[in-house]
Amino acid sequence: MTTVDSAFLPASTPPSVASFLSLEHGLFIGGRWRPSDSGETIKSLNPATGRPLATLTRGSKSDVDAAVTAARAALADPAWRDINPLQRGELLHGLADLVEAHADELAFLESLDNGKPVSVARTVDVGTTAKLFRYFAGWPSKFEGSTIPLSPRGGLRILNYTVHEPIGVVGVIVPWNFPMSMASWKLAPALAMGNTVVLKPAEETSLSTLRLAELVEQAGFPPGVLNVVTGSGSVVGAAIAAHPDVNKVAFTGSTEVGRLITTAALGNMKKVSLELGGKSPHIVLPDADPVAVAAAASDGIFFNQGQTCTAGSRLYVHSDIYDDVMAALVDHARRIVVGPGQDTATQMGPLVSARQLATVESYVESGLTEGATLATGGSRPRGLDAPYADGYFLEPTVLTETTHAMRVVQEEIFGPVLVVMRWNEIDDLIDKANDSPYGLAAGLWTNDLTQAHRIAAAIKAGTVWINCYNLTDPASPFGGYKQSGWGREMGRGVLEQYTETKSVWVNLT
Ligand code: NAD
Repeated sequence: MTTVDSAFLPASTPPSVASFLSLEHGLFIGGRWRPSDSGETIKSLNPATGRPLATLTRGSKSDVDAAVTAARAALADPAWRDINPLQRGELLHGLADLVEAHADELAFLESLDNGKPVSVARTVDVGTTAKLFRYFAGWPSKFEGSTIPLSPRGGLRILNYTVHEPIGVVGVIVPWNFPMSMASWKLAPALAMGNTVVLKPAEETSLSTLRLAELVEQAGFPPGVLNVVTGSGSVVGAAIAAHPDVNKVAFTGSTEVGRLITTAALGNMKKVSLELGGKSPHIVLPDADPVAVAAAASDGIFFNQGQTCTAGSRLYVHSDIYDDVMAALVDHARRIVVGPGQDTATQMGPLVSARQLATVESYVESGLTEGATLATGGSRPRGLDAPYADGYFLEPTVLTETTHAMRVVQEEIFGPVLVVMRWNEIDDLIDKANDSPYGLAAGLWTNDLTQAHRIAAAIKAGTVWINCYNLTDPASPFGGYKQSGWGREMGRGVLEQYTETKSVWVNLT
């Protein structure tokens, strides 16, 4: 790594973060940091200022080849292949310890790179990452095969048992909204099951993953078990997805790119798991407390600047309490403090990039053109001083008088824009909630147990939250119906997706 010009940094930046940012970051391949074969770099920008934050390496197809070769070699290395399950668990516990020990530094880095408030990065991104490694550290010694009673023909006596083996080299491709924790959702079960990994972070937000790779090395994982190749999706991501020596690709990102990955994976029929987009309905029944629900609906969409796959982006409020909920919701949205994520008062930071800001603004425009009403927001906040005046900020935005014919209701905006609709009749509500190509999550607010369970059963979504929203836990399965994905992350079930199951038949006759 070489030193590069220091970027503008807030006065509160920890020295460890400042020195990390001042380095030109290489690729992590086979336990060594190295430049790309291409010799090219990428400037990573600070979304709060639009100015350069750090210098990354632009990986090439041949770098991916080198990373896959290193990952394949690590699979056969006795230092990884032959350690026992408890030792694998101890390595993961050690990594969780290191993430916790560096939590403040990692959170600040994530905030600078992605834009989110440091407090969110600390509790959600870093907290989740440590918890994931801790949870999956317990599984290597507990994910057992079975002995299966058979009924063979011809009087044979057969002992049949199953064993779970690593899939092999896992390609991990992740987005920019929760950079380190999205990577860890896949890394933790992949490593727990004895695989090796080639990981590509999003080009907008690679820094926390690079720092995590240093911690993986420090935790004592053998060289080549984790390899990180930074660069563009169309080069590095596509090369991982198409690589003939990658056995599985685990992807989180847009449905559009998920399709490309699935097609590329067909070449060697590698296994594919996908966590994709969402347009989640957030439903309010007439008995709910309007003020409490308005706060929850606001958090459900504006958390993480609306850049959350499970964002409660379609709000359906019963007509009886619509006016009360709307008054409280608009009030709540207007009080949200928008600013740089490193300012302790900030509740909502900038969007991740100029491109994302332009996309979200064009959705607001399209909603208004199609007849929606702007209840609040829709503009860039005024009054931010230099250097933040050039940041990618947008006010929390609420559109009313929206219908299912509008793009803002049908498409994932992935920004701080909520569309609100009234409802009267429950069957119609359920039809509307399910009228989406996505099926990632849903939320509902009521004390009516019967209606709550009836709606939960009828909604086509991988997660339903009742009287809560946006909660996840490493022990609970997460994933999507319809075009929101293939497979589930987390919980015991995900272990199947990172292993091959072998059925062994022994003739005891
Ligand atoms: P994206 O699909 O544009 O990019 C995701 C990753 O894929 C990035 O690393 C990118 O470089 C890479 N990529 C791009 N083109 C590629 C290609 N041709 N081949 C291989 N890789 C390629 O998504 P994004 O804009 O970074 O993230 C936003 C999307 O992610 C939203 O749709 C959101 O809903 C989704 N998301 C889903 C979940 C979930 O768990 N379901 C979680 C977070 C985000």
